Amino acid sequence: MVTMATLKEKLLSSVAKDPTSIPKNKVTIVGVGQVGMACAVSILERGLCDELALVDILEDKLRGELLDLQHGSLFLKTTKIVADKDYSVSANSKLVVVTGGVRQQEGESRLNLVQRNVSVFKFIIPQVVKYSPDATILVVSNPVDIMTYVTWKLSGLPPNKVIGSGTNLDSARFRHMIADKLGLNTTSCHGYVLGEHGDSSVPIWSGVNVAGVTLQSLSPDIGTDKDPEHWKDVHKQVVDSAYEVIKCKGYTNWAIGMSVADLTESILRNLSKVHPVSTLVKGYYGINDEVFLSLPCVLNAQGLVQVVNQKLTDSEVSQLQKSGATLWGVQKDLKDL
Ligand code: NAD
Repeated sequence: MVTMATLKEKLLSSVAKDPTSIPKNKVTIVGVGQVGMACAVSILERGLCDELALVDILEDKLRGELLDLQHGSLFLKTTKIVADKDYSVSANSKLVVVTGGVRQQEGESRLNLVQRNVSVFKFIIPQVVKYSPDATILVVSNPVDIMTYVTWKLSGLPPNKVIGSGTNLDSARFRHMIADKLGLNTTSCHGYVLGEHGDSSVPIWSGVNVAGVTLQSLSPDIGTDKDPEHWKDVHKQVVDSAYEVIKCKGYTNWAIGMSVADLTESILRNLSKVHPVSTLVKGYYGINDEVFLSLPCVLNAQGLVQVVNQKLTDSEVSQLQKSGATLWGVQKDLKDL
């Protein structure tokens, strides 16, 4: 029987035995809600991956987001965008960003919310590891430090492969607000917010600097109640900022999306850049429980490879220990891990 060559066969002569490309820098995003899609768009706009996979349980939403992104492919450097509720679509990812989960209901305790998200992660994480056993997992779902611990436990991966977005966003907000007060570009204002993402985060005032000039050397009481210029309020603004954005538009998404793309770049491009992200801190600063908190960490293609040993004041250390104890208080009662 003579078979007719298809148009594709007439157009293209194969040189390689199998011309289908194998992804080298694939990213999967689990959860295509407001945060997941902001991460997707930021990663695509920066041309960081050659393949992007989306996974969610909502099939229509997934298909809608897939088609909408694919229709922009002319303007992107990512050749393949795929989506499915089946995790096989995520196979061979270098990085998996987890943004899926349930939201806090009115009157619901934090422990109850975490326990419901543990049930969701019990489904997500084994599937992620099954199809991409060598991937780094970046957890964004809240409460992010606890969900990073849950992911570490459920995945069986070494700690360098499980990262929480942690205070990367809090630090970006901190630097923006300092820059705003000084009338400078955010990239020229350096400083870290460490510890727990959110309410009990710890601003490291001793390290805040512009061109190596620490603000503390010019204003020794900066960040304390004695400071006449009330710079301490900047950190309060950082803590309040998520609530303020949520009050105005219902959710936060753009800044977290951009900050996740920044972490993605350091991992996929093997940059060894330092970011404040959530890591297993047992053994650091007198913390003896298995909790995840943000410290300045080096990220490259192997995941989270080093922690910068920063000299913290006694008060900063005790704040970190307090956050660690609060997290452990929730984690120790979690079931099914
Ligand atoms: P959203 O409700 O818009 O999206 C959540 C998505 O998760 C939904 O599409 C839902 O269908 C999906 N999902 C639920 N169960 C799933 C499962 N089993 N498998 C796959 N997908 C599932 O929420 P959002 O606004 O996108 O926020 C997502 C998470 O990110 C929340 O936990 C939020 O608190 C957190 N967040 C974290 C930071 C941070 O700095 N770490 C910042 C903002 C938001």
